[in-house]
Amino acid sequence: MISDPDVVGLLYLLAIICFVLALRFLSSPRTARRGNWLGGLGMAVAIGTTLLLDGISNWELILAGGAVGTIVGIIGARRVKMTAMPQMVALFNGVGGGAAALVALAEFHVADGRLASEEVVSIVLSALIGSISFAGSLIAFGKLQELLSGRPIVFAGQNVANGVVLLGSAALGVALVAGLEEQWALVALLALALAFGVLFVLPIGGADMPVVISLLNAFTGLAASATGFVLDSTVLIVSGMLVGASGTMLTLLMAKAMNRSVANVLFGAFGQVQQAVGSERVDDGRTVRATTADDVAVQLSYARRVVVVPGYGLAVAQAQHDVRQLAELLEQKGVEVAYAIHPVAGRMPGHMNVLLAEANVPYDQLKEMDEVNPEFAQTDVALVIGANDVVNPAARNDPSSPIHGMPILEVDKATSVVVMKRSMAPGFAGIDNELFLDPRTTMLFGNAKDFVVKLIGSVKAL
Ligand code: NDP
Repeated sequence: MISDPDVVGLLYLLAIICFVLALRFLSSPRTARRGNWLGGLGMAVAIGTTLLLDGISNWELILAGGAVGTIVGIIGARRVKMTAMPQMVALFNGVGGGAAALVALAEFHVADGRLASEEVVSIVLSALIGSISFAGSLIAFGKLQELLSGRPIVFAGQNVANGVVLLGSAALGVALVAGLEEQWALVALLALALAFGVLFVLPIGGADMPVVISLLNAFTGLAASATGFVLDSTVLIVSGMLVGASGTMLTLLMAKAMNRSVANVLFGAFGQVQQAVGSERVDDGRTVRATTADDVAVQLSYARRVVVVPGYGLAVAQAQHDVRQLAELLEQKGVEVAYAIHPVAGRMPGHMNVLLAEANVPYDQLKEMDEVNPEFAQTDVALVIGANDVVNPAARNDPSSPIHGMPILEVDKATSVVVMKRSMAPGFAGIDNELFLDPRTTMLFGNAKDFVVKLIGSVKAL
């Protein structure tokens, strides 16, 4: 048992340093693994120290809870498919918020009316934010797992209803802080906050969920931090704040990469609007040119420089390992190969980095958007695999487009473009893509994995 407060403080400081360094290392694919290990180590130190504090009892319950959590965590993390990672994060995040709310409820119950008002403030914040995060994350999970419709679920007067529910729970919070030390009030606050979490996420389209999850993640961090004040735990206060700050920054970065405000993501019911825009298709006589794997193999093999542009479709097709193999074959033929990474390609931040890292693509071949865009003019073939919105020139050329202003990968500046996708169907934004009609573009219509495997065969045969 540890009873010396200085030793406890020192161990918590060690955990906090691990968390800060982990965040630093997680910001680059090259060091992300180290970051993950350090974060895990920090968490082990924090949990270990807390368990060894004087006064901790109920070991059976703690061990049983820890065992259930560990088993679910290990099985979940091992079994989850890469494309299902956003909903897994939603679920983990949700239980964090739920835990914060439950701790608040338990502390309020135990104190039985003997709380200072600043303690009640922490309890109210913990319960309010934690419950919103819990319920919102479960809805986000349901949408991404397709248990619920991914389309925005909207009804008349929605924003007013949301406002009333939120104000109701906030009013109960104020009453509690002002001295209404009644359990029913906290339970009612919790129920209203849960309802708000559901109502707040329902009108948001499935593909905007990563932004929502990141925001809810920030909420969970704040709830955990408030719980830290309730439990008088420095490590919880600081780590909650780190989660809150990094979640907020990630939310803002994602919104910026889509050139949309966070308010537009949260209240714009995005998936709805674009349906209408997508249907106003103008036929101006230009045609789409389909090609064959054999022709593309020749194009690639005799190129000086090829830039692979991965998108959501690559993740769906799970073609990352084959793409690396194709790239290696081309390199053996003297072709320079790079990968262009758009910050919101796929369905979660860093999706393409993780996908390509899984296939052991060398990190120095991964190029961020700002670095690669000026290089497209010197690129012979831009090979777009399952990407759509992130290469749509309408973002640059068409002020009426819903994605106008979103920074894109400028593949249309390459000498030729090959796009691999199954049909002319739009991407997440639901809008047509001018790129497919560009005279420099040819299309390989089919599953990305099948075509990459065919390309490997054709390149080998040359
Ligand atoms: P898109 O959703 O624009 O397009 C993906 C394309 O992949 C589709 O057009 C689809 O066409 C094709 N596809 C699907 N399955 C396959 C398959 N098996 N084989 C070949 N092609 C396939 O993806 P992008 O990556 O270009 O853009 C991401 C979008 O998601 C952006 O609009 C972004 O704003 C949004 N978003 C991203 C977030 C993030 O954090 N990454 C967060 C929130 C939103 P077809 O059906 O014809 O095959």
